[in-house]
Amino acid sequence: MAPNQTTSLLSDDESNHDTRRNARTHPGTNPFIFTALIALSCVGLSAASAFGFLYFSTSSSTTHSAQKLSSIERTGRPSSKLPRPVVIMISADGFRFGYQFKTATPSIDRLMAEGTSADRGLIPVYPTLTFPNHYSIVTGLYPAYHGIINNYFVDPATGDEFTLASHDPKFWLGEPLWETVANHGLPAAAYYWAGAEVVKGSWTCPPQFCPKYNSSVPLEERIDTLLSNFDLPLEEIPVLMNLYIESPDAQGHQVGPDDPQITAAVGRVDSLLGRLITGLEQRALLDEVTVIFVGDHGMVGTCDKKYIYIEDFAEWIDIPEEWIMYHTPVLSIRPPAGVDAAEVVSKMTEALESGKLNNGGSLKVYLKENLPARLHYSDSDRITPIIGIVAEGYTVEQRRVAGEEMCWGSHGYDNAAFSMRTIFVGRGPKFGKGVVVPSFENVELYNAVTSILGISGAPNNGTSGFVNTVLRRR
Ligand SMILES: [Zn+2]
Repeated sequence: MAPNQTTSLLSDDESNHDTRRNARTHPGTNPFIFTALIALSCVGLSAASAFGFLYFSTSSSTTHSAQKLSSIERTGRPSSKLPRPVVIMISADGFRFGYQFKTATPSIDRLMAEGTSADRGLIPVYPTLTFPNHYSIVTGLYPAYHGIINNYFVDPATGDEFTLASHDPKFWLGEPLWETVANHGLPAAAYYWAGAEVVKGSWTCPPQFCPKYNSSVPLEERIDTLLSNFDLPLEEIPVLMNLYIESPDAQGHQVGPDDPQITAAVGRVDSLLGRLITGLEQRALLDEVTVIFVGDHGMVGTCDKKYIYIEDFAEWIDIPEEWIMYHTPVLSIRPPAGVDAAEVVSKMTEALESGKLNNGGSLKVYLKENLPARLHYSDSDRITPIIGIVAEGYTVEQRRVAGEEMCWGSHGYDNAAFSMRTIFVGRGPKFGKGVVVPSFENVELYNAVTSILGISGAPNNGTSGFVNTVLRRR
């Protein structure tokens, strides 16, 4: 499906499910939800009272409260009125949906209670890898259309390799949000987000708002840098601020999703959000600024020797390592010229269905044009002619390695796997309070952000009308 065409993003079952549901929860349709909303409304009312007091105290011309003085001293201006909408979008890499229940997460809870969240999480695009998904979030495009079809690939047209360090715009198609903002003559900031350092179109990656990636910069410092933008002269404040943090993905890969280290990492992510909320409150800006908290994908454990070995296919077909662009969890095979890809798929399928291969039932091999349409993973020359879908938690390797026993976490699998889902919550003037919407794919977010900012966007794969289901209708 080419960009700018309306498309059903979910599987048939889920689309029907969503169609039957009111996209926004509505008191009276479900006693449990109604009760929950009452409870949330109480939280909202008390919070609103608190904010109301702050607003009154900072906007009154006669009241010189501590809050007012504090605001003036900190920002150099007495009121909290920004000249235009501002969106902060923070991504926690590998924040699997459900992590928020592992430990106390008061800041995520608050964002949800005072904002809008996806009831069973945000659905990543396939492959559920970091760069393809971060770039889909900011372009609204599936990887086949934004060009970053994997964390590593070789462009067959040029032979050029793409790696995580590649900032050449020839790889990065589509129009990311910061470029869209720049096209409107407005300032944007992008801290460490995939694609941010790519200079293209009117986006110059200005050093003060787009530093070079440096994983050693403490996460708290990143939040403080973002907040410091609000102390700039009004016209210089970026209207869009994307911020990336590596946690809890790094821990998830090392120990899998169920280790206490993950619990600790989730707690830290929550405290970072708390730091952001507090910083906005101190500037009396919390209710003006939109905060969107997302992840790029989930995480699943890979223990129990769930291996599939390419060398096992030799009885049916020899598949040299040179044919394989990427082994796992997106088995990507580009046979050389003169080798019929359909024949390779046929022989591999015969092997997998023979019952003789180790874990053969956990790999399905396709010509890319025959992949399920819901994956949107065929319409690019960069995608290899043969794609193997690896079952959740399994790993493909070329050959057996003596003594190897992998037991950690991974992602990249079919985006229908619930373990690959991540989180979405949005809080701000255009998000309803305490609203829970059905899960949706991350390509929808581009249109939501441009709508909040009040600017026109580039053609993309987002669904026409989606913003009306996730944002307040006015
Ligand atoms: Zn990631």
